[in-house]
Amino acid sequence: MEMKIGVIKGDGIGPEIVGEAMKVLDRIAEVYGHSISYTQLLMGGASIDVNGIPLTDDTLEQAKNCDAVLMGSIGGDAKTSPWYQLEPSKRPEAGLLALRKGLNLFANLRPAMLYPELKGACPLKEEIADRGFDMMIMRELTGGLYFGRRSTQIEDGVTVARDELTYSEEEIRRIAKRGFDIAMKRRKKVTSVDKANVLDSSRLWRKVTEEVAADYPEVQLENMLVDNCAMQLVKDPAQFDVILTENMFGDILSDEASMVTGSIGMLPSASLNETKFGLYEPSGGSAPDIAGKGIANPIATILSAAMMLRFSFDLDREADAVEASVSEVLKEGYRTIDIMSEGMKQIGTKEMGDLISSHIR
Ligand code: NAD
Repeated sequence: MEMKIGVIKGDGIGPEIVGEAMKVLDRIAEVYGHSISYTQLLMGGASIDVNGIPLTDDTLEQAKNCDAVLMGSIGGDAKTSPWYQLEPSKRPEAGLLALRKGLNLFANLRPAMLYPELKGACPLKEEIADRGFDMMIMRELTGGLYFGRRSTQIEDGVTVARDELTYSEEEIRRIAKRGFDIAMKRRKKVTSVDKANVLDSSRLWRKVTEEVAADYPEVQLENMLVDNCAMQLVKDPAQFDVILTENMFGDILSDEASMVTGSIGMLPSASLNETKFGLYEPSGGSAPDIAGKGIANPIATILSAAMMLRFSFDLDREADAVEASVSEVLKEGYRTIDIMSEGMKQIGTKEMGDLISSHIR
């Protein structure tokens, strides 16, 4: 297969961790007979330094012409970086929002998985961590409360603030379909999370999701209220496969799920639109505190590249190979500093990338 991949190395640790993910992709191409062409794209602080703005129209067009984009993190230290002297619309994060909007990335995917070797970092009770978990949180990213009309005004001498939560059935249907498609590639269970006992938007969410479920007879659909889901994530996370939910609930639940894994440097993410195109990036930030030291954990970015193989290129066997290599390297006791524990072998960013790519077969 020919893969045209856009690469946004980004800021801080971005270039270091993206370099290792490219190394792994190149190894996949070599072993499985694919060819990759990379297009380097500037976004965030790196683009401000060159173009004065965090995302140019030309970069957005170039990204659209790729099959998928691999990204490190963007941004700097808000206290010391000159990027944060600029007005908010010219800061690094504005580039990311404009990119997501320009590419119509409405579906955000964040897996939360506990590797048996990293159980010690899990803050849950031992008997729960022992059972392990492997879930995918699918969050609607472009609608709902965060994109509704908002206002603050004085009414009868009292300040009143309003935020509007709107979902159309089309918006719900397109993300629900993506959720069920992804469940078909996994353990075939969708937990749709809403607040249908209170909110009209949630009642519509539930109705449309149930309609979509009818087209996927192999997938088990379960509806769960968001307050119950927040509890179940710490009580029995092993029950979840795909969690499908709206923007604000997904924002909160995906952070909760990543906390229970205990290691930010391990968590990949993907943002998808209606086509096979996706933007793949680690869940963490640009970690300016450790940038340039060669100690950042590249695994989240390497696993983001595995998600790219799976979701943008339908190369499930190759994605499995990357994930298996990560597991093997962890089993052999190699750790970057953020996941280091007693008796393990501490290595740097580059060594971790080298080991993972050399384990790919
Ligand atoms: P951060 O995730 O960058 O760092 C939090 C802590 O986690 C730090 O101690 C850091 O060293 C550590 N860490 C993060 N990734 C790591 C890795 N791969 N390996 C080892 N340790 C790792 O969060 P922050 O400090 O709040 O933000 C720093 C910058 O990143 C800010 O400018 C913020 O806006 C930006 N940010 C960008 C994105 C993105 O690009 N999508 C996401 C979050 C934050």
